[in-house]
Amino acid sequence: MSDLRTEIEKRRTFAIISHPDAGKTTLTEKFLLYGGAINLAGSVKGKATARHAVSDWMDIEKQRGISVTSSVLQFPYKGFCINILDTPGHQDFSEDTYRTLMAADSAVMVIDASKGVEAQTRKLFKVCVMRHIPIFTFINKMDRDARDTFDLLDDIETELGIATCPINWPIGSGKNFKGVYDRRGRHVVTYSGTEKGTKEGTETIYEIDDPKLTSFIGQDAQEKLEEEIELLDGASAAFDQEKVSKGELSPVFFGSALTNFGVEIFLNYFLEMTMPPLAREADCGTLDPVKEPFSAFVFKIQANMNKMHRDRIAFMRICSGKFEADKEVYHVQGKRTLRLSQPQQMMASSRHVVSEAYAGDIIGVFDPGIFSIGDTVCMPGHKFAYEGIPTFAPEHFARVRPMDTMKRKQFVKGMTQIAQEGAIQIFEEPNGSLEETIVGVVGMLQFDVLKYRLENEYNVEIRMEDLPYEYIRWIENPEEVPPEKITGTSDMKRIVDLKGRPLLLFVNSWSVGMVEERNPKLRLAEFAR
Ligand code: GDP
Repeated sequence: MSDLRTEIEKRRTFAIISHPDAGKTTLTEKFLLYGGAINLAGSVKGKATARHAVSDWMDIEKQRGISVTSSVLQFPYKGFCINILDTPGHQDFSEDTYRTLMAADSAVMVIDASKGVEAQTRKLFKVCVMRHIPIFTFINKMDRDARDTFDLLDDIETELGIATCPINWPIGSGKNFKGVYDRRGRHVVTYSGTEKGTKEGTETIYEIDDPKLTSFIGQDAQEKLEEEIELLDGASAAFDQEKVSKGELSPVFFGSALTNFGVEIFLNYFLEMTMPPLAREADCGTLDPVKEPFSAFVFKIQANMNKMHRDRIAFMRICSGKFEADKEVYHVQGKRTLRLSQPQQMMASSRHVVSEAYAGDIIGVFDPGIFSIGDTVCMPGHKFAYEGIPTFAPEHFARVRPMDTMKRKQFVKGMTQIAQEGAIQIFEEPNGSLEETIVGVVGMLQFDVLKYRLENEYNVEIRMEDLPYEYIRWIENPEEVPPEKITGTSDMKRIVDLKGRPLLLFVNSWSVGMVEERNPKLRLAEFAR
């Protein structure tokens, strides 16, 4: 038991989230470097293909290769066992980010100091805030000209609605970047000539009143720093671990991942302030990660990672106990006892088969098509389900059908599988034909991915016709108010989801209110329950 506790308590599982190009990959590489997982930074993923433009998303196989090797990384550091979860850096995949965050115990938000919270990724960062897990901010690229530090913090607070607490404070930026002031230690760590890619940078620590510091950073910078520290001590939120743990206060750090400055300082504070795997809510109550034997839930399904085998991998977050590959487990939603086959874990840049893993770890298992996102796996005899992963309400809809009606079978199969992965949501007209399906997505880019995957993986070309709907509501009490009895508006459409649940689509938001008004007994919900 004590071994189990030790193993679990040393785990730190977190997701890194950023706007593309803010420096997530570079920061991850530096973390790995400190963990000794790689000798020289630069081997995490093939950068050239990791871009975010539509054209690159189309290169799905390559993209898959990247996200497989980098989707979960595990490495040891100072007695901790670190699991890093990668998230897509494009707002259209914010639902994926949300799911990944369900598997993480905290999040690191990387922000480009010259840009702040970028409009395009606001949604992605907001998703992070919604999860109420600790959020740590790393303001990167201080070696480039940065925006005013107070403005950057203000930006995070107003855009994301989360209070910030700078743990350190930068001295200058760009060519004048001299280091950071550590507010806890009350000293300055200066920056000079850190060599790219190695951890032997020259960081020197000076007390704030050390004359050597003044000569290093200059009289003006020293005065400005002292002024800012005073302002900061008086005006900013005090550090409060409880608020950090609840995701209400984000500790902020400054640095430069590329030149490796401030990364180790950040990592050390982060590991101290974030949490080991904690108890999780299930339908039978709160389950302790140490006392409860092995249990996990599926947070991501990825299909066809290897075209030759058409395989599908279900990624599971272990929530409690120890996973042993040779033991049978119980799949709650499938109501079946089974052995998880080919359990794998990613260590730095390689995948390998694991025979054991602990709460906090992520394993990827071969999925013959039985798992759905949110499913629970536990020990036989322990029947319970973890809280489901909510699906986002789609905001874009299209009618989709195969060009060639002879390919109906592949079409249905492809659509169903892609929907099971959670990449799209599919709907039908009540009593409609299967040849025409209504697809709902959260981000437009998902339509392109759907088209590409149907063509490339299922050999089906499709015709897609945009639909004007933007608002979706599930009918919560169809027994009481049958859909066909609803007094609608001219822009309302009745459809059903994969599970046969009735729902309504609307073009205008005011129509939702109008329909509620006209049908007082009707109960509408934005999410399927
Ligand atoms: P990602 O898209 O968030 O994974 O970003 P990358 O880590 O790939 O970084 C994007 C670009 O910014 C690359 O060219 C990096 O070399 C560069 N970069 C990352 N961190 C820094 C930094 O601290 N300073 C500077 N000047 N460039 C950086």
